[in-house]
Amino acid sequence: MKNQFDYLVIGSGIAGLTFALKAARSGSVAIVTKKERLETSTNYAQGGIASVFGQDDSFGLHVQDTLDAGDGLCHPEIVDLVVRTGPERIRDLVEIGVQFNRTGNNFDLGREGGHSRNRILHAQDMTGKAVEKVLMDAAESSPNITIFEHHIVLDLVIQHHSMKTGSLYLHQRDICRGAYILDTAADQVHTFAANAVLLCTGGAGKVYLYTSNPDVATGDGLAIAYRAGAKLANLEFVQFHPTCLYHPAAKNFLISEAVRGEGGRLIDRHGRAFMEKYHPMKDLAFRDVVARAIDTEMKTTGDDCVFLDVSHLDAEFLKARFPNIYRTCLSLGVDIAKDPIPVVPAAHYMCGGIITNSSGQTTIQNLYALGECACTGLHGANRLASNSLLEAMVFAHAAAQDCTRQIESWRNRSLPDMPDCSEKAANQGSGNNEMVLIAHNWDFIRRLMWNYVGIVRTDKRLALALNHIVQIRMELKEHMPKIPVNSDLVELQQIALVAELIIRCAVKRKESRGLHFNVDHPAKDDAWLKDTVVKKNPAEEFLSTVPFKTDEPASDRGQVLSFRHR
Ligand SMILES: Cc1cc2nc3c(=O)[nH]c(=O)nc-3n(C[C@H](O)[C@H](O)[C@H](O)COP(=O)(O)OP(=O)(O)OC[C@H]3O[C@@H](n4cnc5c(N)ncnc54)[C@H](O)[C@@H]3O)c2cc1C
Repeated sequence: MKNQFDYLVIGSGIAGLTFALKAARSGSVAIVTKKERLETSTNYAQGGIASVFGQDDSFGLHVQDTLDAGDGLCHPEIVDLVVRTGPERIRDLVEIGVQFNRTGNNFDLGREGGHSRNRILHAQDMTGKAVEKVLMDAAESSPNITIFEHHIVLDLVIQHHSMKTGSLYLHQRDICRGAYILDTAADQVHTFAANAVLLCTGGAGKVYLYTSNPDVATGDGLAIAYRAGAKLANLEFVQFHPTCLYHPAAKNFLISEAVRGEGGRLIDRHGRAFMEKYHPMKDLAFRDVVARAIDTEMKTTGDDCVFLDVSHLDAEFLKARFPNIYRTCLSLGVDIAKDPIPVVPAAHYMCGGIITNSSGQTTIQNLYALGECACTGLHGANRLASNSLLEAMVFAHAAAQDCTRQIESWRNRSLPDMPDCSEKAANQGSGNNEMVLIAHNWDFIRRLMWNYVGIVRTDKRLALALNHIVQIRMELKEHMPKIPVNSDLVELQQIALVAELIIRCAVKRKESRGLHFNVDHPAKDDAWLKDTVVKKNPAEEFLSTVPFKTDEPASDRGQVLSFRHR
């Protein structure tokens, strides 16, 4: 087979690159990425990375802040692991050349919502860019790493190990052996084989109409893992960032929480600060509190946005601390040193994801999930600001160690026969005169999710949303096979499935906790102190438009929804 590697890494953000660099010491690595290599959420991260370096800080305080944000659903042993090993992972970055801002010999540590101490390492307000560039430069110069741009993964190759005893069909574990990948430049579908596959596909912000995420964030990893039979959890916990720039010419531009950390205040259009009405921590309350407060203000006043005011801060300080935000706003006619910044909340971060253990392993053998697409237990019901880049590095490191230990034994296994998919993708559909279906459904799903499954939810809106999405997915199933495979179609299928899974999880949780707020169940209820686990419905067919063979008996596919007790 042409495309055969030790490690197949899907995604070129912080999770994929960190893993690739460490794993390349023990084997060959393919990184596939569906657009240009730098087009990742990582590249847009502004605020920074949380870790304990301050004189007045401690692991215990960072742990406690993370647990408080997670509202009862964090897995304490995972929080402990991430916080305690965080400084080592930061040192890894410094070693390969990331330059964080410093004051003298010490890191300059910023503050963000929910943090009781200053602990955010940053490279001005473009931390993600600095990290992504250094990691990418290192990956490009590694002889063991090959990068495939414009390759979109459609589905995983899963080998089902099963044993037959008489008429009994005993099911053993599934093993991931590779992936089916559409090369969008050549319009070809290929099979990639690997000893281990790493899903590092990032978030799912594009499921919502308004998002801070780049276009690549369509939840592909979640959909792919779900179809392959992996367990996912806590998809109802979608974090809405309180402050995205509200301007017709600005697509997805975030005004970092660090701006409030430096003294920025949220005000209404009359200049009145309003956060004291909602929380004693005012503008630095947890993100869900701030996002709901803004949502309430906008719904009560009928205004299209609220404002973030930093005009009381020194103009030179603003230019030096937030050069990217300063420049971008100025180019749109907002001088942040003088004018309040118009802001609205937007979908920002998926706290749930593919369930993994502390080495990043999913419930499918040789399949790992790292970064935003994973649900490690760190975030619980709400992510503490700037914990996600840290989480991605900690688990990428752990997964690389785990794989390195096992790679020799994996190499000794024989590779199963895999269907060669290197055919023209365009041949798979009968014509492309129905592209309007794709555009319409993209828009419909994103609006539906924003209006019915957004910051504040109700039982009725969730039930309506579920009806709509089930209908849309049935239509997609009927009509899409007639349309040639292309990335818009693939992503539409992914956002439709992820939207349905988010709704199903949200419907199930009959309480309000962390990021999930339902006015029909406004209180927290300890009967729900458990993760919402979702697994493929036995009756559902694979959605993939490429051949996907499975000999697994349907009855072994598990239940739709269950709960993982803590
Ligand atoms: C504007 C913004 C600001 C943020 N600020 C911060 C911050 O200050 N601190 C913090 O900790 N977090 C921050 N976050 C969150 C953080 O940036 C992300 O959680 C993190 O970067 C995710 O990294 P990742 O490696 O998991 O995924 P990403 O960096 O998003 O990379 C995903 C990769 O997967 C690829 N991919 C996806 N699907 C497929 C497919 N089907 N086939 C092939 N490739 C695929 C994409 O092309 C991309 O290369 C921010 C996020 C945004 C959007």
